[in-house]
Amino acid sequence: MEPLPLELPADTVQRVASELRCLPTDERVALRLDEEDKLRHFREYFHIPKTQDLPPIDLSLVNKDENAIYFLGNSLGLQPKMVKTYLEEELDKWAKMGAYGHDIGKRPWITGDETIAGLMTDIVGANEKEIVLMNTLTVNLHLLLLSFFKPTPKRYKILLEAKAFPSDHYAIESQLQLHGLNTEKSMRIVKPREGEETLRTEDILEVIEKEGDSIAVILFSGVHYYTGQHFNMPAITKAGQAKGCFVGFDLAHAVGNVELHLHDWGVDFACWCSYKYLNSGAGGLAGAFVHEKHAHTIKPALVGWFGHELSTRFKMDNKLQLIPGANGFRISNPPILLVCPLHASLEIFKKATMKALRRKSVLLTGYLEYLIKHYYGKEKAEAKTPVVNVITPSRIEERGCQLTLTFSVPIKSIYQELEKRGVVCDKREPNGIRVAPVPLYNSFHDVYKFINLLNSALEAAERKH
Ligand SMILES: *Cc1c(COP(=O)(O)O)cnc(C)c1O
Repeated sequence: MEPLPLELPADTVQRVASELRCLPTDERVALRLDEEDKLRHFREYFHIPKTQDLPPIDLSLVNKDENAIYFLGNSLGLQPKMVKTYLEEELDKWAKMGAYGHDIGKRPWITGDETIAGLMTDIVGANEKEIVLMNTLTVNLHLLLLSFFKPTPKRYKILLEAKAFPSDHYAIESQLQLHGLNTEKSMRIVKPREGEETLRTEDILEVIEKEGDSIAVILFSGVHYYTGQHFNMPAITKAGQAKGCFVGFDLAHAVGNVELHLHDWGVDFACWCSYKYLNSGAGGLAGAFVHEKHAHTIKPALVGWFGHELSTRFKMDNKLQLIPGANGFRISNPPILLVCPLHASLEIFKKATMKALRRKSVLLTGYLEYLIKHYYGKEKAEAKTPVVNVITPSRIEERGCQLTLTFSVPIKSIYQELEKRGVVCDKREPNGIRVAPVPLYNSFHDVYKFINLLNSALEAAERKH
């Protein structure tokens, strides 16, 4: 009963319901979708929080031994069970042999980052030499901009999307200031049309077409952190490069969420963090990509000893032999204790594959959207229930797993009621809630339970008013 690849999620939900002779809203649909899910066992590789351990839980409303509905993998991914083992391996090595650990074992510390970089190739669609694991996201963004943003009097702008993540906004602002540029004039922000929440690709391409000659760098996110919109990365790359711009992406919300082909799309550079969909723990080891076409032309602006070729690095003769490409951007020796959690997570991705994860994700999020529209859509809502609007694009190609919901009433107490019931998600005042069912560890039954809990949270919030 493999669903056809081209079947839309809503059609799958309805088909399964009619096979079961029940309504699409029936619990049995969720259970059947879980049964048919070939990736369902990957949930066992993670620690799923129990409701009783969540600080805001109200134990009179939930069964304490039940699993939380964790829909916050877009902010902080769950812990793979192997993380502790891998950390212990390196801690033991350190305890037992001290500095010899640099060269020995499964993850020699000197090349700890390199031992796992190969596990990232499939996730971002790049070859190993184009990928480097280092630092944290915003630091990497700065390092890349220092090399790719070389403004001239004619070409001096950085193009970005409206309401970019604050760190990206500040990074761009401060890079412009570093070159003595007026931020007002040089930050070209593409905004949605009046009354719309997300950007139209045609509008982005039009700005590039019209103003491309004055744009030095296009820096977009792959998936927008708030709206969940997945931008048309190949189209933006192509249009920008046709105008002579460098095109880079912040993949914080795209990596491990949607399929990426950075190499084939010809993207110039990219960076990402690993604690969201890549489950490496807060502050985890981030990544960067520099396309191989730039390996010998674009150099790091700031250099450290780990950008020097390994074969002669420890000669310490102060004659720089820079590694071409992304790995030359490394400054310091890699943090082995951050390599371990990422290693544990990337091994799971390797087994699951991005292709299969994405396929599940489309249905999982489609199921969530189907149920939300069914109960709370503009057309459906009765006078007493608030309208819940999905601002994330409904087209599959234009989103990842996250849906951003906006409510026709203030969300503060709705959110509190969700938290009390063991739903872990995220609120953005005044009226947005982001929910991300993650295909690696969330189930269709999680989505089903979420909808029921949302329902009771709405009723409880209503009673308070
Ligand atoms: C999460 C996120 C960040 C966070 O940056 P750090 O340097 O990892 O703290 C930056 N940009 C975007 C778009 C993000 O989603």
